[in-house]
Amino acid sequence: MIVILKEGTTVQQRESLCDWFRSMELEVHISQGQYKTIIGLIGDTTKVDINLVESLNMIESVKRITEPFKNANRKFHTDDSVVDINGFKIGGGNFQVIAGPCSVESREQIIAVAESVKASGANLLRGGAFKPRTSPYDFQGLKGEGLELLFEARKRTGMPIVTEIMNVRDIELFEDVDVIQVGARNMQNFDLLKELGLTKKPILLKRGLANTLKELLMSAEYVMSGGNEKIILCERGIRTYETFTRNTLDLSAVPALHELTHLPVVVDPSHATGLARMVEPMAMAAVAAGADGLMIEVHNDPQHALCDGAQSLTPEQFESLVKKVNKIREAVIS
Ligand code: PEP
Ligand code: MN
Repeated sequence: MIVILKEGTTVQQRESLCDWFRSMELEVHISQGQYKTIIGLIGDTTKVDINLVESLNMIESVKRITEPFKNANRKFHTDDSVVDINGFKIGGGNFQVIAGPCSVESREQIIAVAESVKASGANLLRGGAFKPRTSPYDFQGLKGEGLELLFEARKRTGMPIVTEIMNVRDIELFEDVDVIQVGARNMQNFDLLKELGLTKKPILLKRGLANTLKELLMSAEYVMSGGNEKIILCERGIRTYETFTRNTLDLSAVPALHELTHLPVVVDPSHATGLARMVEPMAMAAVAAGADGLMIEVHNDPQHALCDGAQSLTPEQFESLVKKVNKIREAVIS
């Protein structure tokens, strides 16, 4: 349920109202917008007499939220959420490019890629240390050593790092990671999501291969209900009957998610298309559709990449992408 207060309501009046809701064993979330104060109530709201609440002087309106996701709901929090990653903001008009290799392969590779993507305009460095591979015989990532190499690349470049967690038992290893990625295959690993809800880390939550937007938002809700509201959603393509591209990039997810939720939305055209030549056009389309950021796979030697070489851009191709994306952004914003 959401309760919207009239402009001019004092903090004291608001607090006494919230205490009353708390006495009904409801969880109370206060969202202070520029003009409006919205109080979100979570729990068994059948105990709340809507007519009584509406009759109070300070109340503008009261609505029941019918969607099962509350914390992530735009109705709960009308302003866009901004996630701050060591000073790099994403959401609410702030745009970021996350770039780097699919997986961390060696010190030379991650440092070379980090330096080149930074020079082209990326602010955040991606790279998998724990890799979810379809085949158990494929390269599984450098694991702990991969994380160490990412920390080293961060030290060299100042770029915060984004890397995927696959298992709840590894969570301690991620203590020094800036953004923890939950991959498509783990979007509904509810135990992992609950545990991440207890951390204070920004979480990049990727949409599952066969999941609806509402399911994605329910997964975000798992993290948020634990107290961690720093979530960045990521559209990375879904399974359809089309096989020409690796997945089908559902770009309508961008405006749809902006309508449904206040959380920032980034697009990953690399996993969505699986084809390096399609990454730039789809990145431009994603930005035109209103994405708050992009996640792009870049490799210094895609032909010899241990993972996802076919979709990885060279540093030169990435530089061209950033230039075009910036032009699109200028056109869309003005
Ligand atoms: C990745 O980002 O490296 C990755 C494995 O992506 P996804 O979970 O979207 O397949
Ligand atoms: Mn990849």
